[in-house]
Amino acid sequence: MIEAVDTLLVDVPTIRPHKLSVATMNAQALVLVRIRCSDGIEGWGEATTIGGLNYGEESPESIKVNIDTYIAPLIIGMNANEIAKVMNQLRKTIQGNRFAKCAIETALLDAKGKRLGIPVSELLGGRLRDELPVAWTLASGDTKKDIAEAEKMIELRRHNIFKLKIGLRSVGADVEHVLAIKRALGADISVRVDVNQAWSELQAIRGIAALEAGGIDLIEQPVKAIHKDSMARLTNKFSVAIMADESLHGPVDALELANKFAADVFAIKINQSGGLFPALQAANIAELSGIDLYGGTMLEGAVGTAASAHVFSTFRDLAYGTELFGPLLLTEEILIEPLVYKDFSLQVPKGPGLGIKLDIQKINHLKRRSN
Ligand SMILES: [Mg+2]
Repeated sequence: MIEAVDTLLVDVPTIRPHKLSVATMNAQALVLVRIRCSDGIEGWGEATTIGGLNYGEESPESIKVNIDTYIAPLIIGMNANEIAKVMNQLRKTIQGNRFAKCAIETALLDAKGKRLGIPVSELLGGRLRDELPVAWTLASGDTKKDIAEAEKMIELRRHNIFKLKIGLRSVGADVEHVLAIKRALGADISVRVDVNQAWSELQAIRGIAALEAGGIDLIEQPVKAIHKDSMARLTNKFSVAIMADESLHGPVDALELANKFAADVFAIKINQSGGLFPALQAANIAELSGIDLYGGTMLEGAVGTAASAHVFSTFRDLAYGTELFGPLLLTEEILIEPLVYKDFSLQVPKGPGLGIKLDIQKINHLKRRSN
């Protein structure tokens, strides 16, 4: 039985400013959810988002209020093992709130996995891989700093795929910045861009043509999320892969994008999808439509990253790898044993549930007091 649902806001500084076209982050507000069950088992979930309300319509504070006020009372007393029934009740009764729903579903899967002694990946149909390639995002905004950071990552064998956040400057200045980095890193290193919706279609046509000619191999969300027809025209026009990210809020968007062929690649995110099962549905639509997959992140900490890893480990094809580097961007470790990053990959945890142990003392120390 679900006995209690706790929502904790945990503020952790980032290792450097993380510049996006929508926000500059100097800290991340992790939203952690703990579900306590009557058999003593606890499950953890995470509903972290990016830049307060800059990136999406749910903020850390709104997620906490909505879980505490509306979601927790609805599910306390329900059978913690009947995850489908609990989530059905939530999805029927509560509109939107995809991040909150994802955190609840994650926590229930973590608890059930622990109860059964199996990893969450096995509750999702079963993993096909134990390692996931992980891209690193270069987002200092400074060309020289970004090159030095990338070279260090390659030397450490931590990352050999790099994503650049662009869209703040003019198209010409951004293209120059990206291509300078691509030239410095060479042909064997994958360099990609994420425009975070910053371009008009005409700017996108100019920008993508120059990036494609310079050997960039993935263009993420060049235009506004709502402009799916524009995404379709760009996908059709260029041979470089176009990826949908903000356009993709779960299976309904996935179906529309697939029907329009408005992307070559889907960035699957568990929080944006509203849960682990909806993320799997979106991935299934991609697979059936011949669209490639990429494992995205909302820069979650260890809990959301582990949950995402369990989901992505079940994908048959993961052509563009993942960006599950969230915990590496943070200055504080909240697990007793950190997630393992080596040989350019994240190891998918193998223990029961999410396969992680949280450092409760550390979390209590970091947690926001005013809440
Ligand atoms: Mg993105």
